[in-house]
Amino acid sequence: MDRKTLKNLEPSRIINGSRAGIISTKLFLNVFLHALRSSRNPFKVISELNTFSKKRTKIQGYSKINRYLKHEGKYHFADQIPGFPSGTFRRFFEAELTRVRGNPEQRILMNTLIFSITSRCPLNCTHCFESENIASKEHLQLDDLLVIMEKLKVLNLTHIQFGGGEPLSRFDDLLRLISNAKSDMDCWLLTSGYGLTLEKARKLKKAGLTGASISLDHWDENKHNLFRNNTKSFQWVQEAVKNCHQAGIIVNLALCATKEFTTADNILKYYELAKEWKVGFIKILEARKVGRFKGKDVTISQGQIEMLRNFYLETYTDKKFSTYPIVMFPGFDQRQVGCLGAGNRYMYIDSKGELHACPFCQGSVGNVLKIPLTTAVERLRSNACQVFPVSTF
Ligand code: SF4
Repeated sequence: MDRKTLKNLEPSRIINGSRAGIISTKLFLNVFLHALRSSRNPFKVISELNTFSKKRTKIQGYSKINRYLKHEGKYHFADQIPGFPSGTFRRFFEAELTRVRGNPEQRILMNTLIFSITSRCPLNCTHCFESENIASKEHLQLDDLLVIMEKLKVLNLTHIQFGGGEPLSRFDDLLRLISNAKSDMDCWLLTSGYGLTLEKARKLKKAGLTGASISLDHWDENKHNLFRNNTKSFQWVQEAVKNCHQAGIIVNLALCATKEFTTADNILKYYELAKEWKVGFIKILEARKVGRFKGKDVTISQGQIEMLRNFYLETYTDKKFSTYPIVMFPGFDQRQVGCLGAGNRYMYIDSKGELHACPFCQGSVGNVLKIPLTTAVERLRSNACQVFPVSTF
């Protein structure tokens, strides 16, 4: 992607330094006034916000938010947290405040759902976590998906990720689901980028899409294509990034950090490429024994985890990264406070409607079309994460 093309494509940009400080002050005042409306006691609110901030620092590992992604007048500091200011951000904050206040009635306070809407996919990736469900025919009809979306309303979600399979393989239904959901929550796409043309990107934007998480598993084109078993995959990722920028869709690059990839040199080169492509976020997902990786020795070493952890924290503390994309590393949060999936802050529905802790810890607790969601969440919380204890945070 030549620099001139990139120069003209800047729907979202990183805000740092003193300007980020001003945004943080505005954010604090906004949530303070909002919390005061339901508390009337400013001292109590100050202590609640203090608890909230300590929790956020514990989970994310850094106290000061040193940069935001500005997109269409809203400021984002994490991919799964709605942009501020917005009604969706206020609802996100209300749920977090309810956790701080410990309101027993409010048993379900999830904010994110990962929803596999199709079993079809043009790719055949080495690590496919959905491999057991991939098929040429859909397991769920559009009516089933619409019923599920209706049922989800009890969860008061603020963020939904439509995945698959390849969700672009079910494009018209995807547009329908996004336009149905957008008023309630931020809609994101989990995609390989395969076939994400400018025309499709514009239609997704018009339907209400906020962001696209595009899978890129190496900075080296050949190594990425090898991992994805497709000679055009890297090109499509590049094309998809460019088309999303042009359509005004936030871009996250999602990396499957394998043993082979996870070196300090590779992660830095990947980060440099993400900056060059002007993406807003990168997300580091450790390889897990699920799908095509089930039973395989894919878990990265303690040394590699340590390297990723230090890299992640450095991107928030080292000034040289202040203009780089914002880094998400769920493996950091999970080691800090336990698993935030498994019905805590998020869960996963696969392309058959089965409910799981997350895409990487699969074990169904029931089918969303057959059991009440509240029951499913209870079951998820009791035993679902296979790697970390379910967080109480
Ligand atoms: S990982 Fe995603 S893109 Fe790759 S084969 Fe599986 S569903 Fe398709």
